[in-house]
Amino acid sequence: MTICTSCILNDKYPGIKFNDKGECSLCTGKRTFSPFGEDKLIEIFDKAKAKNAEFDALVPLSGGKDSTYILYLATKVYKLKVLAMTYDNGLFSQTALDNIERALKITGVKHIWCKTDPVIQKKVYRNMLLKSGDICGACDIATISYILKTAQDYKTPLILYGTSPLEEDSFVPDSIQDISRFKHILKDVSELKTDEINKYLVLPSRNDFNTFIKKKSGKIGLEVRPLFYIDNPTDKEMGEIIARELGWQEDFNKDFTKHFDCIAEPFTNYVRHSIYGYERHICQYSNMVRSGEISREKALQLYESDMLDLRPANYNDILSLFDISEKQMGDIVKIRPLKYERYTSKINKLFLYFVKLKQKLS
Ligand SMILES: [Zn+2]
Repeated sequence: MTICTSCILNDKYPGIKFNDKGECSLCTGKRTFSPFGEDKLIEIFDKAKAKNAEFDALVPLSGGKDSTYILYLATKVYKLKVLAMTYDNGLFSQTALDNIERALKITGVKHIWCKTDPVIQKKVYRNMLLKSGDICGACDIATISYILKTAQDYKTPLILYGTSPLEEDSFVPDSIQDISRFKHILKDVSELKTDEINKYLVLPSRNDFNTFIKKKSGKIGLEVRPLFYIDNPTDKEMGEIIARELGWQEDFNKDFTKHFDCIAEPFTNYVRHSIYGYERHICQYSNMVRSGEISREKALQLYESDMLDLRPANYNDILSLFDISEKQMGDIVKIRPLKYERYTSKINKLFLYFVKLKQKLS
């Protein structure tokens, strides 16, 4: 296996190339991240405040580090009137739930729980896992649909995402985040009826193009990723700020663990590691190396200590939660990587093509 001499990505990452110095194409093609500027962010916030709506912004809150930091920025730093929401994916860790509760108590913002029928939710996870090995994409689809629906229902001028520059490249291109692909994977599953699938999807006909139109026409608020505008504290400092300000607590006693809010995270990473040979952590640590936050040695050390090739401690609990047998697990880890990638919605593909073309021209 080839490992980049500059970051820690390996040759299993789809589309990766190495030059003669052994540096990967993500490192050599690195766009050093430079924030768009706080003045631009303040301008966006001022415009939203000027609308005098009941809420200036919707903040999706998972109890994890990034979204809690966004809640802190929105309420304490930029003084926005915030509506918070959480999609109950059925997999929240107690630590995350406690974090949400404390943050809401301290900020006093209104909060909404969005829930799917748990029976349908379990059937979706189970069958997604059996057929594709991925449930994160299925969770993301429902999360995004609920976020857009809530923003639309409450007419919030803004939606503030906690997406961080550190997470760039950690989801592509294998996650099942495309509704057409999602439907394709589940189409012959007898356990799920079409109306159940549509119920799970909340906005079953959503695609990138019709969402774009809704945003342009003002039906859905502007989506903003504040961490791309400002000079961010390091991951560690971010944790310290929200611990002090919003009573936030970390799980697992690790310095750099994202997505601990989900109890299935170690399991999904384990499955992904087995199928692909790379997973979210390696991408995040590599981004931290590229941004200068940690050294390559530190990244290797952290990655090794994650022991992603070993079954996580709650492996059996997760199997029984999704009603998956050891034998079925044996088949899941043998699923071919990128098996469903080509079933991306045609509209989404076309839309992405135009977005890229526009970027090239400007
Ligand atoms: Zn690299």
